[in-house]
Parts: sequence; structure tokens; C-alpha cells
Amino acid sequence: MTEEKQQKVQELIRDVCVHPCDFYRAHWGAVERFEDLPFMDVEKIIATPFSARSYTTEKGLAKIVRTHRVPFLVQWSLRDLKAERFGDTTCKRPLVLLSDSHDALEKSLWFYEHDILPLIGETNNLQAASFAADAYAIDALVADSKTVLPFLAEYEKGHDVKTISVTLIENRFDPAMVARLQISCARVLSVLACSETGAFGVACPEQGDGEVCFHPNDESIVEIENGELVVTRLALLRTPIIRYRTGIRAEAVSADCSCREVAFTLT
Ligand SMILES: [Zn+2]
Repeated sequence: MTEEKQQKVQELIRDVCVHPCDFYRAHWGAVERFEDLPFMDVEKIIATPFSARSYTTEKGLAKIVRTHRVPFLVQWSLRDLKAERFGDTTCKRPLVLLSDSHDALEKSLWFYEHDILPLIGETNNLQAASFAADAYAIDALVADSKTVLPFLAEYEKGHDVKTISVTLIENRFDPAMVARLQISCARVLSVLACSETGAFGVACPEQGDGEVCFHPNDESIVEIENGELVVTRLALLRTPIIRYRTGIRAEAVSADCSCREVAFTLT
């Protein structure tokens, strides 16, 4: 962990410890050292009403997370959402094509916050999505593993997809799919994220085609505990994410790159 991240996480723990909300304080007891804090998991979040795990009251986007046993509520303030590391802010007209409609709204709002007007594509009608993409001349695509190849297959019928930058936001990646996208599209950025945590990892920019090795992004700490990714987000989010067990299997690798961060692959 970098010195800057160490400092940020200590500040975060201090903020959480003195906050009127006692969701984490009750869970941590007297422990204050980051490395000793008990893990947080989704069941504890599900079992706690939203109001009892709220650390901020800023205006933002409420979202239902549907990727677990039962749906639960999270909220992103506009400021926290803007600070998310979802990738490409150089494009002019991105198409957001995500299977989950709440995630699609969230990523679209992220673009608005970066002064970019996105389109949201209808995932159940790729012909319509392709028609809109053509009408508004998209130059970027934000997609997940379910949507990306079917959409490109449709769009490729009338367009050269070589001009499109793809951001793939997922919590699992098929290296063969990434390799295929790298061949067909202008640029591929793989962003590791869960619906409830936001983005916490990014594919190493120096790796070769077909390799998918990740680093934590600047706003996150990633630990691997018994083969599972444990994530800490370095901002005081509405429901903070501190030593959160993601359920994603991974292993640490020694990356031959200049990124100066820990590297890991998904297993
Ligand atoms: Zn790297």
C-alpha cells in the first residue's frame, strides 16, 4: 500500500469512529488498526436498514443492488459518483449498455458529472440500441460481459467498430472475450467493480493482448484473504466500504510492469 493510501485509510477510520452512525463502530469494537479490522460482508449490509448504515446525507442517486440473495439499497452522492474511476472521460458520445438498469443510470450520471452526454441503450432490443448508436454517432461503449459482444455483432453489420473505445465494467472477465475486443475495437479498458462497491480495480495498461491482470485504482485498497478479494474504498461513502468481502476469487501475481501497485488476477 502506498503512503498516501495509508494516510487516507487512517483518516477514513478516524472519521468512521467518531461518526454518529455506529454501523462500523459496533462491528469493529475497540480495534482501530486497519489490518486488524474485522471484515464486512454483504449479509451484514443486507441485514442493516439503509438509515442505520448512512454516513452522509448529500443529494445523489439511490440504487437497488440486485446481485445478491436479496435486493438492497445503496446511494451515491453526486460528488462520490463523480470521483468514481469508471474510465474514459475523453469520449464525446458514449453508449451505456448495461444489463442492470440501475447500474446503467448510475454510469450515465457519472458521464453527466463529467460534462459528457451519454445514451442509454436498450439491452433487450439491440437493433434499437444500434439504431440510436448510429443516429448519435457513438465513439465509446460502456458495457458488461453479457451485452458487449451481442451489441457489437449487431452494430458491426453497418459500422466499423474499430473507432469505438470499449469500457467493460464487470466483476468477472473472460480473457478470451477481452482478447477478442482488443482485436476488434479501438481500445479496451477493463474496470473491476461490484454494484455495491463501485469501481476498485483497473486492468494493467501495460499487459499484452488477452492478459487480464488488475491493479487497485487510486481510490481503493485491495487485499486478498484466503483467495478472496477484500476491498476498501478510500472515501467516506454513504455506506462506506471498508475491508468488504466481495466474494470474488483472486490471486496475487508479480506483474512485470511499472505501475507500482499490487497486481492480481481473477481465478
Ligand atoms: Zn501494471
